Amino acid sequence: MKKVAIIGGGIAGLAAAYALEEKGENIEYTLIEKDARLGGKILTETHDGFLVEGGPDCFLSEKPSVIKLAEKIGLADSLIGTNDEFKGTYVYSGGRVHALPEGLMLMVPTKIVPFALSPLISWPGKMRMALDFVLPRKKDDDDETLHNFVVRRLGREALDKIAEPLIGGIHGGNPETMSLKASFPRFLDMERNYGSLIRAMLAARRRSPAKRPEGSGGKPGTYFMSFKNGMGELTDALEKKLGGRILKGKEVVKVGRSGTHYQILGDGFGEITADAVIFALPAPEAAALIRGWDAASADILEETPMASSATVSLAFRREQLPFSPASFGFLIPHVEQRKINAVTFSSIKWNYRMPDEDSVLLRTFVGGAKNSHLACAGEEEILHWVKQDLKSILGISSNPVMSRIHRWIHARPQYTMGHLERLHRVEQRLKSLPGFYLAGGCYRGIGVPDCINDGMNAAENVMRFLHGTRE
Ligand SMILES: Cc1cc2nc3c(=O)[nH]c(=O)nc-3n(C[C@H](O)[C@H](O)[C@H](O)COP(=O)(O)OP(=O)(O)OC[C@H]3O[C@@H](n4cnc5c(N)ncnc54)[C@H](O)[C@@H]3O)c2cc1C
Repeated sequence: MKKVAIIGGGIAGLAAAYALEEKGENIEYTLIEKDARLGGKILTETHDGFLVEGGPDCFLSEKPSVIKLAEKIGLADSLIGTNDEFKGTYVYSGGRVHALPEGLMLMVPTKIVPFALSPLISWPGKMRMALDFVLPRKKDDDDETLHNFVVRRLGREALDKIAEPLIGGIHGGNPETMSLKASFPRFLDMERNYGSLIRAMLAARRRSPAKRPEGSGGKPGTYFMSFKNGMGELTDALEKKLGGRILKGKEVVKVGRSGTHYQILGDGFGEITADAVIFALPAPEAAALIRGWDAASADILEETPMASSATVSLAFRREQLPFSPASFGFLIPHVEQRKINAVTFSSIKWNYRMPDEDSVLLRTFVGGAKNSHLACAGEEEILHWVKQDLKSILGISSNPVMSRIHRWIHARPQYTMGHLERLHRVEQRLKSLPGFYLAGGCYRGIGVPDCINDGMNAAENVMRFLHGTRE
């Protein structure tokens, strides 16, 4: 029997373990997780009958790995879509909440009339966005920041009011430092192939007009999807499917190499010897464990900037709110200088999130790459800021009946300029370490679907290596 150690029990480590479980002939694996629970950043809790997501609350359905995995592990019936009768993205600007104009795809307008009528962008701002039709395409192939790209193609107002809140919200990122190639290669292709983002989006629309995303078993899905019992239902179900050795609450403190083997040492489990190892760890944690035998890779991994953010979930009785929520929520651009950067009406966006129809569940976000320091403040202070902003923006002055804060300190990887080169350099170095693989949200995609793919690919590579078929 060949032995594999998987270090880290987030979704990437769990996906790797599941792939070995499914296809790893003559392979025994041990998954080691330092926390008492598996799931990592996927963290679902129930408080007073409210389903609270501490980390991700959904996944993008156009990337099929989550749905495929859910079907395999018997979760197809638990998949849920958003309540799209309340769909629509809103942006808080100049003291009011505005709907993003109908037809806006990512950040690109594709319908003239709703865009022209939208009060969100000023007339000069709209004219500037329309210049995208005639501006020449970029000549060289060099990477640039998302900030530069959006200002170059669509202008500053589109950046501040649309791109920054939309994209900052998804990545917890800062457009001023984000690499376009690493984060949004699709935009680059659009400019390269069509010379204009608007033309590219219009062409995409013509090719697949208003196509609904696919859910499970060919049933229609929604753009964002989740599970009845929250994202944690996925990691809980995966855990139940694993027949390998699972060590929880055990931190790996050292990984060494001797001959062709890896020795994994940790708190409370002595030493494990493995023929191959998967580090399903964030870059800083991976760097700390690699440093002993490959300081250069550790240095490169440590260059990955990690932002901090907090999710703050608050529940109210319906009568405590001076309005009746009827959308998924809204984004707050950085230029508005608020402490919170988005509000999600979780109980409108999803079913199965509250104990009764008279309750409302909200989720707000503090921090992210532009404001990481805010997420590092004390919980009381964060809660105070959130209540202050909810009062001044939404007029909510009552105390919530339930509140929960989840802080993610130095935990949100930023794909900044140079990310792809750094990754390439690490991958080149790791080729000289037979049987060693890196997986997870710090490397080839931050979303849950990307992490599943990355964990499964790492497991495939391990199997090829152990069975002597590595190219
Ligand atoms: C607030 C927030 C909201 C998000 N929203 C979304 C969203 O809506 N949709 C989406 O697709 N993605 C979202 N993401 C991103 C996504 O959740 C993550 O990229 C993904 O879950 C990362 O999985 P992972 O397995 O790579 O890492 P992690 O989940 O970080 O797992 C790594 C594991 O390694 C363990 N570990 C670390 N060091 C050691 C050690 N020495 N020994 C043993 N174990 C160790 C950790 O305890 C952890 O469990 C969000 C992330 C956050 C923080």
